[in-house]
Amino acid sequence: MIVQQNVSLKPYNTFGIDENAGFLAIVDSTDDLDEIFGSGSFRSQRKMILGGGSNVLFTRGFTGVVVKNEIKGIHIFKESDAEVFVSVGAGENWHQFVLWSVERGFGGVENLSLIPGTVGAAPMQNIGAYGTELREVFHSLEAYEIKSGKLITFYKEDCRFDYRYSVFKGELKDQFVIIKVNLRLKKNPEFNLSYKGVQEALTQMGVSTPTLKNVSQAIINIRHSKLPDPVDIGNAGSFFKHPVIEKLHFEALEAQFPDVKSYPVDADSVKIPAGWLIERAGWKGYKAGEFGVHDKQALVLINLGNARGRDIFKLSNQIQKSVQQQFGIELEREVNVI
Ligand SMILES: Cc1cc2nc3c(=O)[nH]c(=O)nc-3n(C[C@H](O)[C@H](O)[C@H](O)COP(=O)(O)OP(=O)(O)OC[C@H]3O[C@@H](n4cnc5c(N)ncnc54)[C@H](O)[C@@H]3O)c2cc1C
Repeated sequence: MIVQQNVSLKPYNTFGIDENAGFLAIVDSTDDLDEIFGSGSFRSQRKMILGGGSNVLFTRGFTGVVVKNEIKGIHIFKESDAEVFVSVGAGENWHQFVLWSVERGFGGVENLSLIPGTVGAAPMQNIGAYGTELREVFHSLEAYEIKSGKLITFYKEDCRFDYRYSVFKGELKDQFVIIKVNLRLKKNPEFNLSYKGVQEALTQMGVSTPTLKNVSQAIINIRHSKLPDPVDIGNAGSFFKHPVIEKLHFEALEAQFPDVKSYPVDADSVKIPAGWLIERAGWKGYKAGEFGVHDKQALVLINLGNARGRDIFKLSNQIQKSVQQQFGIELEREVNVI
């Protein structure tokens, strides 16, 4: 285990926020976790778990121990003619794992290509993109219980997955370190090309009968064209969740704004694209010094250089307020504010 003291977190979060951690511990085994949580000098310190830092906003320094998960390893633990069960260390890079699967012809995660971050964080908010969510391929996970040091297995039902939600973001928040995720992939996958733009991207690639690799590449192409790369512009992807509102509310909104889009949720409610609301409220392309709102995707708040996390947080408050005032809709943050 590597432990450093008084470390800048700038290289460890995709927003590129320059706040310090009292300690940064790079862990790659459960023994390391025992050392951090169970004994010795770190016992009394506050702790936070960090993966790739692509879904966090540091609004201040973290005085305790930032525990960066680098538990690695990918192996197949069960296989049939139709399926393969893969166990993946929480510290593996998510996109590299997707490429590993695509390379071997294992389908189910191709629509989740190029999502930044680690495998261990993927169940936290049930990552999703282009009509697919992690829960569709999720089998189980192994987690280290912080208070007891025990390893506990969580199956799909235990995780209570929902839209950008799991029990680890809710009632079990800060109680477990996910160390391994087990996924169930298909050897003869049916592709989900239903999401707007996927078919179009394939056509642009000159592909009429797509392979797994083609679909993954189409998603990569779409993402490159739409989202800012954190290497160039600090960001954490979608800052807010898409709000779910009652159908009656939607009908009133549609009467006023005929171009508003919606996605069905159930008989009584629909989901509205948060980016549309933010754009309509006039924030798209907004800039204030070192931070602002991306000019191509209003759902993405950006650090243009040396922004403070607290300024981006304040901006998110202003956006929430103005969307509430104009549309009577409450935006909920997707990003974890520290
Ligand atoms: C450009 C860009 C595009 C994105 N697009 C998408 C998208 O399409 N869909 C989507 O769902 N998300 C998207 N995201 C958000 C982000 O990539 C995902 O939420 C990702 O799963 C976060 O992984 P991470 O390792 O970076 O987590 P971190 O940001 O390091 O952590 C996120 C949260 O999980 C906790 N955590 C992390 N690892 C563990 C662990 N092993 N055990 C327990 N808790 C843990 C942290 O404490 C924190 O609360 C995007 C982000 C960016 C920057």
